[in-house]
Amino acid sequence: TTSEKRQRVVVLGSTGSIGANTLDVLARHPQRYECLALTAMSRVQELAQQCRQWRPRFAAMPDAAKATELRALLRADGLNTEVLEGPAALVELAQHPDADTVMAAIVGAAGLAPAVAAARAGKRLLLANKEAVVLGGRFFMQAVREGGATLLPIDSEHSAIFQCLPQDPSTWAQRIDHIVLTASGGPFRQRDPQTLKDVTPEQACAHPNWVMGRKISVDSATMMNKALEVIEARWLFDLKPEQIKVLIHPQSVIHSMVVCRDQSVLAQLGTPDMRVPIAYGLSYPERIESGASALDLLQCSQLSFEPADAHRFPGLHLSWQALRAPEGATAVLNAANEEAVAAFLAGRLRFDQIYNVNHGALTDIAPSPDEVDSIEGLMGLDERVRAHARAVIARVGAA
Ligand code: NAD
Ligand code: MG
Repeated sequence: TTSEKRQRVVVLGSTGSIGANTLDVLARHPQRYECLALTAMSRVQELAQQCRQWRPRFAAMPDAAKATELRALLRADGLNTEVLEGPAALVELAQHPDADTVMAAIVGAAGLAPAVAAARAGKRLLLANKEAVVLGGRFFMQAVREGGATLLPIDSEHSAIFQCLPQDPSTWAQRIDHIVLTASGGPFRQRDPQTLKDVTPEQACAHPNWVMGRKISVDSATMMNKALEVIEARWLFDLKPEQIKVLIHPQSVIHSMVVCRDQSVLAQLGTPDMRVPIAYGLSYPERIESGASALDLLQCSQLSFEPADAHRFPGLHLSWQALRAPEGATAVLNAANEEAVAAFLAGRLRFDQIYNVNHGALTDIAPSPDEVDSIEGLMGLDERVRAHARAVIARVGAA
């Protein structure tokens, strides 16, 4: 209601796919939410346009030259948005005393430090940035607990699981037998595995059901996205690796399922639209209008399921391998994958070689305990793995 204080929202990664969807939901509820800060990596013009529309108190860009450019654009428009610069600015905004809610929608390991800052500051933390929890693991979840943050999953599968569970997390272990993460299978579900070596970045980014950033699109094509989601689920719901199953469901109508002790199966359904989990994260435990269109079950007369083909999608199984290895292995997998995907998108690595880089890193690199118990340790490990992966890519990568 208008008499209540509006929630002040920081959108980290506002120019991305999740960022834009977040602003779309916020725009539907001006009496409930206001935008305290917007941040982006590279698209200055787009961020400037968002600032004109939202008039946030702060904007931030990690790159100082870009921040200067943004400052000039906003000054010319007479806006009094304060433009911050440097990676530390993202941390500062994530823990800002005036922020109630932080949308963590940065892609990749760069999102870890701000997500941890929001967690420690006890914010309502909307977590889209799955790489942060895959890299941060136990350390990240500990920051959430110690900070008293409210962690709300934005990944559609994890939001689905969360929506199928009672509010009190202390009841989860008792009731969950296992969970089933659904996967669309991406653009290559039916492509001849022999030809996957010829896949181009454009083909990999053409997802049948979702429009997303390029990194997650490639991850969906290799099913490394599902691998990261298995690891994400392990931490968000405190599950054992064997309690997490994956099923291909090409229609993306069932977003995931909880199989309870008594074999009752709970599922969350909807049209594939990220505004649903985003709206739930913003309004939890209430529900608000998201802008998504209604699910017409008569239009989806067929809901089908297939096992994930280990031959076609070898990367998927690296998640369970990493979860069973000593702590830090999931960080290794994530870092190798980020480098491999970047190299693939830049034309320096073949699609099928992404798996080799990821598998090789898991085999070659043993994290030490002091690399997993602080931001500095984790970011050091992340960089160590990237350097290793870059060397491998330079050696084996497609010319
Ligand atoms: P995107 O590439 O569209 O957007 C990424 C955003 O992060 C941009 O605003 C970019 O400027 C910013 N950014 C990139 N690198 C940065 C860095 N080093 N430092 C600071 N900011 C940086 O990506 P997306 O599709 O919106 O995905 C964002 C996150 O949400 C990813 O972790 C992804 O896995 C997750 N996610 C996305 C979807 C989806 O439908 N797009 C679904 C589930 C989960
Ligand atoms: Mg997902």
